[in-house]
Amino acid sequence: MRYISTRGQAPALNFEDVLLAGLASDGGLYVPESLPRFTLEEIASWAGLPYHELAFRVMRPFVAGCIADADFRRILEETYGVFAHKAVAPLTQLGANEWVLELFQGPTLAFKDFALQLLGRLLDHVLTKRGERVVIMGATSGDTGSAAIEGCKACDNVDIFIMHPHNRVSEVQRRQMTTILGDNIHNIAIEGNFDDCQEMVKASFADQGFLKGTRLVAVNSINWARIMAQIVYYFHAALQLGAPHRSLAFSVPTGNFGDIFAGYLARNMGLPVNQLIVATNRNDILHRFMSGNRYDKDTLHPSLSPSMDIMVSSNFERLLFDLHGRNGAAVAALMEAFKATGKLSVEDDRWTEARRLFDSLAVDDETTCATIAGVHGETGYLLDPHTAIGVRAARECRRSPALPMVILGTAHPVKFPEAAEKAGIAAVPQLPAHLADLFQREERCSVLPNDLKAVQAFVSQHGNRGKPL
Ligand SMILES: *Cc1c(COP(=O)(O)O)cnc(C)c1O
Repeated sequence: MRYISTRGQAPALNFEDVLLAGLASDGGLYVPESLPRFTLEEIASWAGLPYHELAFRVMRPFVAGCIADADFRRILEETYGVFAHKAVAPLTQLGANEWVLELFQGPTLAFKDFALQLLGRLLDHVLTKRGERVVIMGATSGDTGSAAIEGCKACDNVDIFIMHPHNRVSEVQRRQMTTILGDNIHNIAIEGNFDDCQEMVKASFADQGFLKGTRLVAVNSINWARIMAQIVYYFHAALQLGAPHRSLAFSVPTGNFGDIFAGYLARNMGLPVNQLIVATNRNDILHRFMSGNRYDKDTLHPSLSPSMDIMVSSNFERLLFDLHGRNGAAVAALMEAFKATGKLSVEDDRWTEARRLFDSLAVDDETTCATIAGVHGETGYLLDPHTAIGVRAARECRRSPALPMVILGTAHPVKFPEAAEKAGIAAVPQLPAHLADLFQREERCSVLPNDLKAVQAFVSQHGNRGKPL
């Protein structure tokens, strides 16, 4: 499989190079040159397979030529073996024809584990084969950092530096990062906000002199391997609920458009999906595009669902590429104009196509809390605020009551106790067994000023298993 850039100018790469690449050299994102397409008979024959084996069938075409079948099978079995639930991604029924797909049974209790547990193992495999070491730098407002650290902690060839805004992530989120101890794990609390952290990551990719030749790898949601891993659970859920003999709908709590883009790919690969709902919080740039063809940058509104607090959606460009008939020059022109003006809209027929593909809804904090309280009252089931937004959008936007509706459960409610409290729910959610002693564990973290030079000096001092590069 070869991968091409959404802006059409960068060289095509194989899977291994895409795994190690961040942005393409022309500023675009990598996408497969062509998608594998499965027949209904083939999909039907996968019913009942264990998660890791289904993952092998779905992803094999994407890694073909780079990772041998036996290695890939072993990696997938290890990856999904660390999830707490035997079903890996279990379904819980909430209402008539309505299910939550629990994607929070992994080590850090959010769906990002599905991709980052795999990414860490794939990196380790590829880097061992090449005899290469890399440095990862990432910024997090919470969930990505812990999932990336958990995913990479066992990688001998990787030093990982995760920046979070000092005193601005929840205690559970901070401890999930800082209590993972290892020579190659470096938590940095920046005296600034999330955007400051992200800017420093971007600046470091743009100017890598401080790394003395060591390769810098991105683990944010633009990494193709993350999208790829997320395709699998759409197939998994659908097969549980009778696909491919019947079609179904998905509602997806959305920020950077990575998770729902995977659902769009699953449909293009042959899964009968009747409806895909983009569910956003008040940071609703995607809803504004879907409902009014205005993808305009707004200010950031902090919400009760912080993992969806974004101003622009980094994977949206991948959809634009398809909407424009995979014309890289057209996408490059649109993105250049967006960079200059903060505004973007597409021609009418392309927008009509986007509306055919996706429904959308923006849900504010008040409605999020009302949904948490409502569902808890009906069923006793506690939703996290991100998943609650998905439930709300599913109920408002549903096209067919006869088809199964699956809401992606993106985080465990214990990660976001504030929302449950605001929803008036007295029973505090409990940490699962593997994290029960989280508040007693030793923490390791360095506090640094909001200063690029200081951060880069820190990375070059510690980037080789804690020793200088
Ligand atoms: C990252 C995240 C999202 C948003 O996913 P995208 O792929 O960025 O759209 C939603 N919910 C939770 C809990 C997350 O951590």
